[in-house]
Amino acid sequence: MFTLTHTDGAARRGVLQTAHGAIETPVFMPVGTQGAVKALTTQHLDEIGASIILGNTYHLMLRPGDDLIARRGGLHKFIGWNKPILTDSGGYQVFSLAERRKINENGVEFRSHLDGSPYLLTPERAVDIQANLGADIAMVLDECPALPSTAEVIEASLELTFRWARRCRVQFLKKKGPDPVPQQQFGIVQGGTFLELRRKSAELTVSIGFEGYAIGGLSVGEPSETMYEVVSQTTSCLPANQPRYLMGVGTPLDIIEAVARGVDMFDCVLPTRNARNGQLLTSEGAINIKNAQYAEDDGPADPACGCYTCSNFSRAYLRHLYMAGEMTGGTLNTLHNLSFYLDTMRRIREAISFGRFEEFRQGFHQTFTRRALIS
Ligand SMILES: [Zn+2]
Repeated sequence: MFTLTHTDGAARRGVLQTAHGAIETPVFMPVGTQGAVKALTTQHLDEIGASIILGNTYHLMLRPGDDLIARRGGLHKFIGWNKPILTDSGGYQVFSLAERRKINENGVEFRSHLDGSPYLLTPERAVDIQANLGADIAMVLDECPALPSTAEVIEASLELTFRWARRCRVQFLKKKGPDPVPQQQFGIVQGGTFLELRRKSAELTVSIGFEGYAIGGLSVGEPSETMYEVVSQTTSCLPANQPRYLMGVGTPLDIIEAVARGVDMFDCVLPTRNARNGQLLTSEGAINIKNAQYAEDDGPADPACGCYTCSNFSRAYLRHLYMAGEMTGGTLNTLHNLSFYLDTMRRIREAISFGRFEEFRQGFHQTFTRRALIS
């Protein structure tokens, strides 16, 4: 279901077929936590060229509930989006948001952060929920250990993740429908920042056999150089002809560096969250629209951007909306930031096609500064 069309060094361009259409990679997936990319409609997402979005299993299972969504015909129908959707397994949020967690071999017991009600998330249940949601790409349940941890703790954790992944695969194959392009399931490589443990986790996960592989547990406070090293190590242990997804990453520079190391798929709340906080990502770096210097600035957010926001509105207006607390400000800022990300991905794919990725990467580093980024 994944075809590599071009390679340029370790960078790859490809096409991933799903039940709701094809995705060109490298791809950025806007995050639609509660079944909505905050501040946008699915029509906006279509217009800015999003080819796949992400939904969060943890949030949707608590509210409104995956059974309720299944009764409405699945997540695509419920949210009015007929392109691909990837759902996470819920694990990451259980480990970061839920209360009174108890992990054992069977799964993780926790209490909802909304009303304290008890839940049990097992590997099988994570598969069933994502089947109820009707995701095109489903993720296995993995344990996300607190970092930093010792090598012993991380190794025990990746072994548990492996046993959970095996159970997820069994359940997935049991439920697999007759569609010509059915749901796909990705395994997740853990291992913290220990290169040897990353290799071990990659080998174990690949031995189960999935449609694609994700790299989890990064961008959690480690230095960028460490993350890049772990990504290089992990991609070198993954099959070349299957998609690779770096979970929760990241800044535009992190994405470019991961593409240079053979990653195909990305998601991150940074462009949408920062937009709502008044931070606009531009070809020259990030700007904070709340700064007084933009009060009478008639220029667009980013002179190099052709999005709806940049084509129609000034920095002065965007600053006014932000200062006045107008929701439209969040919408216009989000449209721009996501357009910037999706345009960057388009330029990355183009550069790979023409064998000019290295040139693009150098140029991007020169013009984009991470100085003002809130990540
Ligand atoms: Zn723009």
